[in-house]
Amino acid sequence: MADIIDSASEIEWLQRNNALAAHRLNRNAVSAEHCVECGEDIPEPRRTAVPGCQTCAECQGVIEMKKKQRGG
Ligand SMILES: [Zn+2]
Repeated sequence: MADIIDSASEIEWLQRNNALAAHRLNRNAVSAEHCVECGEDIPEPRRTAVPGCQTCAECQGVIEMKKKQRGG
């Protein structure tokens, strides 16, 4: 029965994660066409997937990493 418990908690986790993501993302936000960090074009799929994004995936990764290093 361990499998069932694992799946249930996994679904719960996913749902909570989705709720957080939906809360964080403003669906009406306009995504930048160019990364504010490096000026590269932000690919359309990313702009659609991350409404209001201002950076390319690469720069976002750097930003997230810096945030983690600051402990925030
Ligand atoms: Zn960039």
